[in-house]
Amino acid sequence: MTVQTSQTQRAEALEQFDVVVVGGGPSGATAATDLARAGRSVLLIDRDGRIKPCGGAIPPALIREFEIPDALLVAHVTSARMVSPSSQEVDMPIDNGYVGMVDREVFDEWLRERARACGARRVTGTFEKLERDVDGAAIVVWREKCGAVHGGADAGGDGRSGTLRRVRARAVIGADGAQSVVARTALPDVAPAPYVYAYHEIVASPAGEERARAPKFDPARCDVYYQGRLSPDFYGWVFPHGATTSVGTGTAQRGFSLRHATSALRESAGLAGARTIRREGAPIPMRPMKRWDNGRDVLLAGDAAGVVAPASGEGIYYAMVGGRFAGEAVQAYLATGRSVELASARKRFMRAHGKVFWVLGIMQKFWYSSDRRRERFVSICRDKDVQKLTWESYMNKKLTRKKPMAHVRIFFKDLAHLLGLVKARPDAVDGAGR
Ligand SMILES: Cc1cc2nc3c(=O)[nH]c(=O)nc-3n(C[C@H](O)[C@H](O)[C@H](O)COP(=O)(O)OP(=O)(O)OC[C@H]3O[C@@H](n4cnc5c(N)ncnc54)[C@H](O)[C@@H]3O)c2cc1C
Repeated sequence: MTVQTSQTQRAEALEQFDVVVVGGGPSGATAATDLARAGRSVLLIDRDGRIKPCGGAIPPALIREFEIPDALLVAHVTSARMVSPSSQEVDMPIDNGYVGMVDREVFDEWLRERARACGARRVTGTFEKLERDVDGAAIVVWREKCGAVHGGADAGGDGRSGTLRRVRARAVIGADGAQSVVARTALPDVAPAPYVYAYHEIVASPAGEERARAPKFDPARCDVYYQGRLSPDFYGWVFPHGATTSVGTGTAQRGFSLRHATSALRESAGLAGARTIRREGAPIPMRPMKRWDNGRDVLLAGDAAGVVAPASGEGIYYAMVGGRFAGEAVQAYLATGRSVELASARKRFMRAHGKVFWVLGIMQKFWYSSDRRRERFVSICRDKDVQKLTWESYMNKKLTRKKPMAHVRIFFKDLAHLLGLVKARPDAVDGAGR
């Protein structure tokens, strides 16, 4: 639809969309897909040129709820190995299931293409700012990547590469990641989420003769290192992705060298000699922002809203749930004209996942704060109850919906272990742990 705006403000017609979604990661692509399926006119703007740095681990709940085809999984992981500061190893096998591993380059592109196939207009470019039309409607100003030709109005040359474009939007979803420009622009008074900075190296998975030099590597196991030398407040990981493997670590501490830590991790994991394909890093937000909408017509989703599970850094599932809730909140807003509907996205999310996030935040602060505690943390992972609850909750997100207090139980059980109130029974000890 095209709307003629005031002659004094604008000489030409601007194209109008029901919703402009900024960012085509898991969150934005999900919102765009759902809204397009519901018959809304949607413009999905995503800048390209960078693969999202990510371990790429996704739970079966995500695969089910968001209809992810098995072909997108580059590996099926069937256990996790927790490694303590003193290099004790505790294996946590998954009973009847697996964690799916995706390559974000392929996964995100597939999600964006699904949105397009459902009817969203997909464009490649960078969101720059929001303006207001004479009637108060949002005008999204974005820069189209050179060479691409798409619909839109107000092409202008200002010396920077790419063409500046403007479209009118009845609603805007900011799903542009942890350093969201939409959040800064539309919600300048809301404090951004604190974050952990994560860095990883994508290496070629050991194959053939190289496997002998990396005896610890298992293409069906995620290894998680809880060692202060690798991260003073988070963890290090080795996540297999079929032909490649993500090896990385993160911290909120400035000055801590993630590159050195990753080298040390590669050494420990037997991957020092593996061919390095990419080195990259990005922030992981660690707390949902206090407000996700501007009370008018802009709503944030995913990392842009600070939505990643503390302690684990799991963000893809929550980004997609956030995108879905954002889409539904925008639908309600468009149907009724009541901007208060936008706030329902955060309310619903926090009702479903807020308690779990809160408990995981406490766990991270408590268990990741010293090597002594990390040692104990890994040791209690031998407990079969802890393993069962951890996997159930991660895999199906059922506990998060039905029994969030189970996480509290784990926490207090953990605490009881730490204080020596509970002795690990020999029959509760995982035989695979050493
Ligand atoms: C190193 C690392 C490892 C991780 N490992 C895991 C893991 O194993 N499992 C897990 O669940 N989570 C993991 N996470 C977290 C997860 O990657 C994020 O939570 C998730 O990607 C968030 O999705 P999103 O759609 O909100 O944001 P993003 O995935 O960041 O997508 C944002 C999109 O917006 C686009 N964009 C940004 N700015 C603009 C702009 N101005 N204009 C237009 N487009 C823009 C970007 O191109 C991008 O496509 C990891 C994160 C990091 C950094």
